[in-house]
Amino acid sequence: MKCPFCGEEMTPGYLESGRYFMWKAEDERGKKREYLLAKSYMGGTKLTGEICPYCRKLVLDIPENPT
Ligand SMILES: [Zn+2]
Repeated sequence: MKCPFCGEEMTPGYLESGRYFMWKAEDERGKKREYLLAKSYMGGTKLTGEICPYCRKLVLDIPENPT
């Protein structure tokens, strides 16, 4: 895919973690929110996506239901 920031071709790959990928954020009232993006009981959780080496940005595919 083309990078949405600079328009250069992005490189596919995956981001690897331990057992979980957790997104942490705060809502508009400053309350902490956690979103489980992916998990793997055996470890080595992967999120596929594309990277732009020029902008240093990642675009990741989030699974529908973390299994
Ligand atoms: Zn870019």
